[in-house]
Amino acid sequence: MEHKLYYRDAYLKKFSAELIEQKEDTAGRKYVTLSETAFYPTGGGQPFDTGYLNGIEVVDVEEVDDEIRHYIKDSLVVCDHIEGEINWERRFDHMQQHAGQHILSAAFEEMYGYKTVSFHLGKDTLTIDLDTERLVAKEAAKVEELANQVILENRPIITKWVDEEELKLYRLRKELSVSHNIRLVIIPDFDYNGCGGTHPNSTAEVGSLKILGWERQKKIVRVEFVCGQRVINQLGKKHEIIKELTVQLNAPEQDLSAAVNRLLGQKKELEKSVEELKEKLLKFEAAEIIRAGKTDIVSTVFQDRSIQELQKLARLLAVDAEEKVFLLVSENKDKLQFVLAKGKNAEGNLKEWAKEALSLIEGKGGGNETLVQGGGKLISGEEFIRKVTGFIQSCE
Ligand SMILES: [Zn+2]
Repeated sequence: MEHKLYYRDAYLKKFSAELIEQKEDTAGRKYVTLSETAFYPTGGGQPFDTGYLNGIEVVDVEEVDDEIRHYIKDSLVVCDHIEGEINWERRFDHMQQHAGQHILSAAFEEMYGYKTVSFHLGKDTLTIDLDTERLVAKEAAKVEELANQVILENRPIITKWVDEEELKLYRLRKELSVSHNIRLVIIPDFDYNGCGGTHPNSTAEVGSLKILGWERQKKIVRVEFVCGQRVINQLGKKHEIIKELTVQLNAPEQDLSAAVNRLLGQKKELEKSVEELKEKLLKFEAAEIIRAGKTDIVSTVFQDRSIQELQKLARLLAVDAEEKVFLLVSENKDKLQFVLAKGKNAEGNLKEWAKEALSLIEGKGGGNETLVQGGGKLISGEEFIRKVTGFIQSCE
């Protein structure tokens, strides 16, 4: 443990060490090991530190078989003396989040008996999974209040190495899997935890804690939250969005929800009138097609019309001209769609015609004795009509 400087001083930003080895792992990634290091390796839910070793960027840190591997972007010039510097902003953020997680987990357990079963420290937010099937807003609010109270009280966060005998003196939140080199992280009279992460010296350094939301997942509840600087970041991000919305919706912040509801209501009404207008327009379109259609087989090519629209139009046509056959074709993005319909007094076997039409475009379709719809590969609508019409006429 002696070589893990972050355990001696979690605030250590720069350090000197001797180079032990420079190697490549089985995946071909370059790494170095040092006589001692302030770089924290991924572990216990806390991500690794980044930084520099003699000016070379450290991009990952892992502990493998008791050695701490500093994965580096480029090879180090081999020399005995290494100057290391960790990315303090990143590390302090991890310390704030990690300690905040201890406090929140302890508050949930203290107030409602909900145990934390896992923890994830993400790039923007954190989550803990609580061993409960439900969490209500009132509980979350009370827990958040207690957590912030503990932060405000500026309580010490103490770390202590103990053996199995000493361990019995503490009421731990979780059974430990290790039996030697046990490291306890203690907030007196509040939280006793076995933990290998880095933490600030007092709860006040967590700054503040905000629960952002939660969701039920199988048998647990996943709570999302942020601490410290991330609370400010979240506030800033959300405030930017709100500011933009107040301009877009021309409403003050407190009226945004009402303004959106109003918009949604208007949208619904507009959609309804568009539907009604479309129906009316289809009737005009049908009348126009019948007026122009001098032959027994009336056909039209459209662009980007839905099959539903073609069906509606075909039904209107078939009612208005009972002795005619209608072939409505639409050249859509990557396929040709069509509706073939006939008035009740028109002669011929519609399904047989449709079969021929579908074979022209390697398509699929279905329908009944008076209306069939189908679609297949995109060919020219005019050419399709010429071929299908020719076939229908040859059947007569
Ligand atoms: Zn911890």
